[in-house]
Amino acid sequence: MATPIAYGPARVLPGEQIHVTTNPDTEPFWQAAREHRLTACQCSSCGKFRMPPSPYCPNCSSKEREWPTLAGTGKVFSFAICSRNPATGDEFVYVPVVVEIDGAGGTRLVGNLTGCNAEDVTIGMPVEIEWTAINDGWVLPNFRVA
Ligand SMILES: [Zn+2]
Repeated sequence: MATPIAYGPARVLPGEQIHVTTNPDTEPFWQAAREHRLTACQCSSCGKFRMPPSPYCPNCSSKEREWPTLAGTGKVFSFAICSRNPATGDEFVYVPVVVEIDGAGGTRLVGNLTGCNAEDVTIGMPVEIEWTAINDGWVLPNFRVA
């Protein structure tokens, strides 16, 4: 059996190198994030979540939508271990995770995971939102081990 690699603590990429661009469909998500409130676009007619947000529901074609507040917990659906900062090329261990959000009909979000060593991340691991301040007053949802 191969010896597992010890990457060490998983960190969040520095906020100053991350920029957010919004449009009318995504603005409510990012405004809620500024208030440290996780939301997702949900069809008001049939209840289906649609993330990324879209003007029309792919299930029932309704234009109606709402933005319910979600618990901010979930489980790791998928992940990767990265060892270099993509902006600088310096050694920097981070773990981009795809998280299935609790209570949101299978909605998944991508973020960085902290709170454990990178080599200890597993599929199905329970996580919770960790808010990271980034440029221009925006706030990015990341995750930490629950
Ligand atoms: Zn619908």
